[in-house]
Amino acid sequence: MGSIGSRLQEVKGRIERACLAAGRDENSVTLLAVSKTFGADAVRQAHAAGQRRFGENYVQEAIAKIQALAELRTGLEWHLIGPLQSNKTRAVAETFDWVHTVDRLKVAERLAEQRPAGLAPLQLCLQVNVSGEASKSGVAVAEAAALAAAVTTLPREKVCLRGLMAIPEPATGPQAQRAPHRALRELLQAINAQQGLALDTLSMGMSTDLEAAVHEGATIVRVGTAIFGTR
Ligand SMILES: *Cc1c(COP(=O)(O)O)cnc(C)c1O
Repeated sequence: MGSIGSRLQEVKGRIERACLAAGRDENSVTLLAVSKTFGADAVRQAHAAGQRRFGENYVQEAIAKIQALAELRTGLEWHLIGPLQSNKTRAVAETFDWVHTVDRLKVAERLAEQRPAGLAPLQLCLQVNVSGEASKSGVAVAEAAALAAAVTTLPREKVCLRGLMAIPEPATGPQAQRAPHRALRELLQAINAQQGLALDTLSMGMSTDLEAAVHEGATIVRVGTAIFGTR
């Protein structure tokens, strides 16, 4: 299995090769290390190996970890990639740098209201349900443009809409893996064109499909297992 540091290097190598194969700049993809269920120690090891951006799914667990790593806080970026209930928005607005899982206006409004003055705007992605019925989280594809339009009217000093995120149904083979990622990219392009926006973020691709996601334009890949091991 090797150390967290060596696995991080392997994942970076995969991203680099995928960028090369897709004719993309290797710096156009950001690696988010998904540390859910792993302790502060694992994050420390990844940090020592140069990793700075971490993704967490569960608000309570994340906040405990962020507090345990308080001395590293200014150098780290924390991204919420798990579902967000309205009653947890305050803690998230006060703690995180990014939220990838906005799927209704109410959550974005609360995050904007509750983002403390003095912190940089919270960076947001809309989670889109690209797999249809099969998955329950995320805004429907047909409703994503309207949600984007509404979120971009919220105060800019509080929240900043950056793009779209998806968790497609697991699939095998490059073609099947690429299809939902392509759909997310095309949706982002359509929203930008229709609304004159410049949303620049596609959060898609995990341990088993990051190559397919990079091929289709991912700008953030969220990788857990391939770095920290099986959960
Ligand atoms: C757990 C998780 C990941 C990481 O998945 P791996 O298969 O472990 O790489 C990425 N995105 C989301 C939303 C997750 O919940």
